[in-house]
Amino acid sequence: MAQALSTRYPLVLVPGMLGFVRLLVYPYWFGIPEALRRGGARVFAVQISPVNSSEVRGEQLLQIVERIRRETGADKVNLIGHSQGAQTARYAAAKRPEWVASVTSVAGPNRGSELADYHALRYPADSARGRLLALFLQLLAMAMWLLETGQRGPLLPIDVHAAHQSLTFEGAALFNRQYPQGVPTSWGGQGAEVVDGVRYYSWSGIVQDKRSDSGGNRFDGSHFFCRMYARGFVREKECDGMVGRISSHLGHVIGDDYPLDHMDIVNQSLGLVGEGADPVRLFTEHAARLKAAGL
Ligand code: CA
Repeated sequence: MAQALSTRYPLVLVPGMLGFVRLLVYPYWFGIPEALRRGGARVFAVQISPVNSSEVRGEQLLQIVERIRRETGADKVNLIGHSQGAQTARYAAAKRPEWVASVTSVAGPNRGSELADYHALRYPADSARGRLLALFLQLLAMAMWLLETGQRGPLLPIDVHAAHQSLTFEGAALFNRQYPQGVPTSWGGQGAEVVDGVRYYSWSGIVQDKRSDSGGNRFDGSHFFCRMYARGFVREKECDGMVGRISSHLGHVIGDDYPLDHMDIVNQSLGLVGEGADPVRLFTEHAARLKAAGL
């Protein structure tokens, strides 16, 4: 049982916007690498620009993958991306499919995020309000770099406008035209399961009355924000607070209605989630799935 999750290829966890490995002692993937390692998986939680385009982040990821391949002797890796980390992983797989066994999108805004569209309207880049938000995000990213203890390196390039553009529906559509691998061709459908030898998977959650508001989430500020953002969704009422249910689809859709908000899905904050929800198990089950597929 100890080796039930010993996948053939290492698992690489790619964070989303404002992502990190560990701020002081606090991890982005709360309890997830530990659970995977207990099952025998090799896991790398990596740091890339917290605020930048999916293409720039993807190029950084390729350099990291190259290093992991060299260090472990593995030919390929399994990429698991949360939020914008999904597009980042997709970019890397599109560019170097021979290095990637699978791409898994966890609450990835593969069709874009209504929240980003809302911000584009409310905080136009050329307005005083937009410039103030950009400055705030820039300072936040720099503060995070100072506090990062999981994978400290040089200050990674920050581009607020490019990050934002990557996440709007228009930006995501542009990205999908260039990197269509795994993206469903019909709204609500699943995508191709294998493209260029790379397997594509996704899962996501939706904010659900009662179920999401219960348990630890009653004490979790991030859940409050996800609930608030969810109310602003118009195109997709079913969403996790930052990404719509259908927008998250990529490749084989493992599930798209888990009672998990956008932060619950990576077991935030501090493992506080709705009653009965188990986001860590989705990761361990997926590692077992990858192993069974010979990946
Ligand atoms: Ca939570």
